[in-house]
Parts: sequence; structure tokens; C-alpha cells
Amino acid sequence: MASSPISDREDTIERCRAHVLSLLNKQHGGLHKTSYPSASLNFLGKLNSNPPSTAAQSRPNHNSPPRTSTYSSSKPNSAQRQIKLDIIISGAGLGGLSTAIALRRHGHRVSIYEKAPALNEVGAGIQVPPNSSRLLLKWGVGSYLDGKTAEPKAIRMRRWKNGDVLSTTTLKGEFREKFGAPYFVVHRAGLQGALYECARDLGVEVLLGKGVARYEEGGKLVFEDGDVRIADLVIAADGIHSSARKVVLGGVDQPPREAGFAAYRAVVDVELMAGDPEVAWLVDSPGQNLWIGDGRHAMTYPIASGKSFNMVLSHPSETDPSTWSQDQETIIRDMKEHFEHWDPCLVKVINMIRTTLKWPLLTGTPLTKWLSSDKKLLVIGDAAHAMVPYMSEGAAMAVEDGAALAEILSLIRSPSELQDALGVYERVRILRTGQMQEASLVNGKLWHFADGSEQRARDEAMKKAESASGGGNPNQWSDDETASWAYGYDAESEVKKAWMLWTSSPKI
Ligand SMILES: Cc1cc2nc3c(=O)[nH]c(=O)nc-3n(C[C@H](O)[C@H](O)[C@H](O)COP(=O)(O)OP(=O)(O)OC[C@H]3O[C@@H](n4cnc5c(N)ncnc54)[C@H](O)[C@@H]3O)c2cc1C
Repeated sequence: MASSPISDREDTIERCRAHVLSLLNKQHGGLHKTSYPSASLNFLGKLNSNPPSTAAQSRPNHNSPPRTSTYSSSKPNSAQRQIKLDIIISGAGLGGLSTAIALRRHGHRVSIYEKAPALNEVGAGIQVPPNSSRLLLKWGVGSYLDGKTAEPKAIRMRRWKNGDVLSTTTLKGEFREKFGAPYFVVHRAGLQGALYECARDLGVEVLLGKGVARYEEGGKLVFEDGDVRIADLVIAADGIHSSARKVVLGGVDQPPREAGFAAYRAVVDVELMAGDPEVAWLVDSPGQNLWIGDGRHAMTYPIASGKSFNMVLSHPSETDPSTWSQDQETIIRDMKEHFEHWDPCLVKVINMIRTTLKWPLLTGTPLTKWLSSDKKLLVIGDAAHAMVPYMSEGAAMAVEDGAALAEILSLIRSPSELQDALGVYERVRILRTGQMQEASLVNGKLWHFADGSEQRARDEAMKKAESASGGGNPNQWSDDETASWAYGYDAESEVKKAWMLWTSSPKI
């Protein structure tokens, strides 16, 4: 079959799926190639006879960063005749709420049904990279976030043992300039609250404490209380343990797998830190610090406008989460043991943690489909593409899911085009999110080398890339190719291009 952009995309999805599986199964080959644009792995080529990343050879040039910034909210053009659908979303997490906003802005009638009786984002901070912040700001969510966000100056990657800086990515200023939007951090509850208020103000109906019991054919939903509703389109944003995913996949679920890691999530009292000269510098100015070492890393940053200090401590964990002790004394003791011989400054902050949550880190592999056979049920967010949080892009992917869906629906002019549009959407999003699952696992490899030849080569390559200012940086935030693919991605224009291509290509 002759190559076309559409068949190229399917080939890349296959390559991506193979890489994700290989990384998950800890096969070494998984680290030498990526299906997404990257020069981050080039340093490995110098270590052995394996060729460096081949991604650059097949790199699609689809992500040139936008040059104009769109910080202020803007309205979609309602002069065009667009179809308006009755849409039901299950789940009021970051994915469901974002998608509701995106769709409602285009005039669809949107209701969200959430099982929990109250909004309940757990954990503390969340990073919002420019590919997501650009959309949120365009939708007007910014005004609901006033005073709740912080824009870190930089991310500093540090050596586990002594905190020496291995690599710095300047975020503030530079990311706005390059990618047209800021990289910010926020408390999860703050972001969820802002999305909820914005959605409500736009006219989205949000019903809490109303769980979906069953997804049936024809856009039919049966609720736990026995109510039944039918929609033109049902969107399941029901999270990592989604029950809709199995329905979409025709009865055989493909649940996310344990990635061999867990994370301690905690918030440290900033007052306590500010009183200790050895650690006060961490809260003096908003910045992110990431210590990397053998099988572990610690990601830290201040949130809530500098009032709290957020920590995610990733560590190996092969045991079944259902057997984990919930006893704080035990969890805190284990957490301290994992980072016992690390940089004394980091250890000092860890010792200030009073309570923590031990969280399993799961990843999905790219699903074969996101749409049910009758094209009435669609999975998005973690339900469709759970990933380890090492690119800080899980929720950002869900925001993109919503933006891309609203955009493609705005391009169709008759209900007869709906199924094709959803089909195009599905393929574009499976590729994008599958590659982000892959990039997240790649970070897990890059950050977790034990001291030795790979670690030395990585550290050297990071330093060299910074002094030479160019690509090939094993710090994926700083690698030009990966960064413009990750942060310069415009979910709306990508899906629009794919739809134009589809409508203009001959149908067999
Ligand atoms: C340690 C860690 C750090 C992370 N850091 C980042 C980061 O910095 N940046 C980033 O972008 N992402 C990050 N992520 C990922 C991000 O948290 C998730 O990708 C995102 O929250 C998923 O949102 P969601 O709406 O798809 O799912 P969820 O947040 O899980 O929401 C699903 C919702 O559906 C509801 N629900 C479930 N079943 C039903 C039902 N039957 N009926 C009705 N409602 C139902 C649930 O109650 C829930 O409210 C991180 C994840 C972890 C674990």
C-alpha cells in the first residue's frame, strides 16, 4: 500500500504501542528509539553499538510552536452553522470538566454526572504545561484561577546524592515566548474548582452524587439510582478504573498496568521550611527541583501561591497496592528509608512531612479504540490514556482531548458527518496520547539510572547540551525536539488538519 499521511499515522501508532510495551516490560531496546520527536537518547549511541534514536529520521514537522500568544479568553466563531448535540459526560474530574467547557463554548448542550457527592481531587499540586494552559486561558478559565497559580522560574534537575544541578530548563518567560503560553503550577483542588465554576457559568449542568451504573448501546445511560438518559454522544471521563472502557473495547478491557513504581505524595508546611536556612531557599522563589537517582526521584515545587510545598517521591514498588499498609507511621518510615542516603537538603524536607499518601503509578498502553462500535460512547482522559506522571502531562492530555473534540465537532456541517469526524478524532488522539505515555516512561528510564556508565553519559550529555544550547538533551523539557512536540502541540489545529485531510482524500 502506498504511504499516505493517514497510513503513516497508523504505522506510528503501532510503533508507539511496541515501544510502550517494550519500556513496560523493561526490555532494554525500548530506550533506544522513540516514536515521538526526540534527540534525548542520542547519548546512548556513544555508549554501545546500538544506533541513536531514530525518531528524528521520521519526524513529522507538525508542531512548530505558535508565535502569537492567546492569553486572553476568546470565543469560537458562532457565525458558522454548526451542529449542536446533546452530550452527557460521566465524571467531573479534570478531564470531564475541561471537555464540558470546550464543548459548551461551541454551543452543545452538556451535562456532567459525577458519582462522588462532592468534588474530591486528591493529592496536592499539579503542573499545567503550555499545551494545556494555552487552551485553559483561551477558554476563560484564567479568571477563575486568579491568585491560585504560580509560574516557576525554572526546573532544575539535580544529582540524587548531593543536589548538584545537572540541567536547568528556564520556564518563566522562555516557555511563554517559545510556546505561546505559561507553564504554571496550581493546587489540584484549585484547578478543579476553577473548571467547575467556569463550566457552571457557561451553562453546563453538573450533577454530583449521581453515578453511572451501565453504558448501553445507542447513547443510553443507566444510573445507579435507576434513572435512564439518552444522549447524542456519551463521553466517559470516568478515570483510570473506567467501566466504560470495557464497553468501548467490546467487552474485553485493557486496564492500565502497574509500572513498577509508586509515589509518596505530600505537602510540607512552608513556615517550617522558611525557618530552616538549609532548606529555605526552596521556598524563597517559585521553582521546581527534581532530584534523580537509582530507581527513584523527588519532584518538588511550591503551590498555592507559595503557601505550600508540594512533593512527589517516586520509588520502586512491585507489591500489590491492596496489601499496602495505610498506617502513617509505617508509610512515613518506608518513605524515609527509600531516600535515606540522598542529598541531606532533600532528606531534611522529607523529615518535615507529617502525612503522606502512597499512590500506585499505572500506565495504559495505546488502546485500539476509544469509540464504541455504534460511535455513541467515547472514552477520554485517564479512562483512555492513563500514564505515569513523569512528563506531568496526564491531565494536560485530557484538556487536549476536550479541545480537539470540540474543534472537530465544530467543523462538521451535517449529522451524517458525525461518525467520520469522531473516527478521525479517535486516531489523532490515540497517537498523541500514546506517544505521551511513551515519553513519560522514557523519563522513568532517563531519570532512574543507577550510578554507572549510563548515568555518567547522561549527566555529561545534559551539561554539554546546555553549554552548546541545542538539541540532544536527555532532559526532555530542554530537548528542543521533544519540547516543541510536547508543549508546542496545538490540539485544535492538529485535529483540524486531520479532518481536512480526511475530507479531501478519496474514499474507497
Ligand atoms: C502523582 C501524580 C502526579 C501527577 N501530576 C500531573 C501533572 O503535574 N500534570 C498533569 O497534567 N497530570 C498529572 N497527573 C495526571 C492527572 O492527575 C490525571 O491524568 C488526571 O487527573 C485525570 O483526570 P480524569 O478526569 O481523566 O480522571 P479522574 O480525575 O480520575 O476523574 C474521574 C472522575 O470520574 C468519576 N467517576 C468514576 N466512575 C464514575 C461513574 N460510574 N459515574 C460517574 N462518575 C464516575 C470519579 O469519581 C472521578 O471524579 C498526575 C498523576 C499522579 C498520580
